[in-house]
Amino acid sequence: MTDWKTRRVDKNGKNLDDLQDLNRSSIIRHLAMYEGCSRVELAKSTGLKQASITKIIRALLENGVVVETGFTEGLKGRRSIGLSLNYSKYQVIGVKVAWERLSMGVFDLRGRISDDVHSCSLEHLALPNAENVVALIAQNIEKLTSAHPGVIAVGVAVPGPFHRGEGAVYLTADGCGSRVYFPFLEQIRARVALPVVIDHDAIAGALGYWWFRTNCDARMALLYLLASEGIGGGVVSKGQVITGQRGHSAEMGHMIVEFGGRKCVCGGRGCLDAYASSIAVEKHARRLLPEHPGSRLAGKRRVGIADIFSAMRRGDELASRLVRDAGVHMGQGFASLIPIFDPDLIVIGDLMAFGGDVLLAGINDALERSLSRFYKKPRIVLADPGDDLVLLGSAAIAIDHAYNRPTELLMPGAS
Ligand SMILES: [Zn+2]
Repeated sequence: MTDWKTRRVDKNGKNLDDLQDLNRSSIIRHLAMYEGCSRVELAKSTGLKQASITKIIRALLENGVVVETGFTEGLKGRRSIGLSLNYSKYQVIGVKVAWERLSMGVFDLRGRISDDVHSCSLEHLALPNAENVVALIAQNIEKLTSAHPGVIAVGVAVPGPFHRGEGAVYLTADGCGSRVYFPFLEQIRARVALPVVIDHDAIAGALGYWWFRTNCDARMALLYLLASEGIGGGVVSKGQVITGQRGHSAEMGHMIVEFGGRKCVCGGRGCLDAYASSIAVEKHARRLLPEHPGSRLAGKRRVGIADIFSAMRRGDELASRLVRDAGVHMGQGFASLIPIFDPDLIVIGDLMAFGGDVLLAGINDALERSLSRFYKKPRIVLADPGDDLVLLGSAAIAIDHAYNRPTELLMPGAS
């Protein structure tokens, strides 16, 4: 709560503490993107006066937020002292809540996870068991913070539908089939003393990739498709997540890729989720199997996505067609998104990335046919499905929060 008696304001009524925090944040974010840069370069790129930079850096050095890295070749060939964030000083906890699994770990500010990882299966996330999941998360946070005293914040990635403004997840209430928004963030904050932030799993994945796989590329616009049992998405442009009023602006699973097409779980028709999620591909396999008695998938009691990928790798025609078709629909979706977001890079992560070259061929074919010639085709990559970008992203959410509030989280006690 603001202490109005001691609140410092300038002659225009602006809160000086907020302004100071904002300036510190802008320097810290710049250092995250341009490690080793000098005070002169910082002044040039942030627009702050040299005297202000000197003062802010002095406070950051005194509080151990920043360290000097020795002489570097500065502007116009002049030697100057390089600066870097003090990466080894701080840690964050990343929490990934999936529908039936909980994973948690301690990360440093470079996204490296410690050996202390908690991972367990959950009863399907619904009410009332969501409250037990919150209790379990709080318990694990307590254990991890007592073993890692450098932890400054907790980031939580949750599945959607997610209400960003309220930090609430839309869950089924057991027994009655209705759905309610469960205040996940409020519940965790009530049990945990550390600052806690929460975001959608797909947004976490996008942020995780930008922070730790592009090395905070300042100029990059990145589009991330979380392609698993469902489809989600996130867009990061110049280090900032693009969200709508309620955080739904990159719900790529529910963009229409076929007018009047297959019915989707959301109640709409023709959504990408109904064509390219692993559940949709499995369903389509069941529809097509009677026409393909010679397929390696024929005769199985239940065809799962792992069977489909395995058959695809052995050259099975039906399995390859199913994966390629999922890729075509992803590509169709990207053809609509590229003119809107103009990304440099599209990353497809999670389960469907096992589709490999067959999936990519479908994506590229659709883009070749549909993408407007006014737009440059971005680089398209499949993330390693073994790389848990959502868990990594949950740490990125916490780090992002700490860099936005450096005075409170990185240098508590400093003025
Ligand atoms: Zn839908």
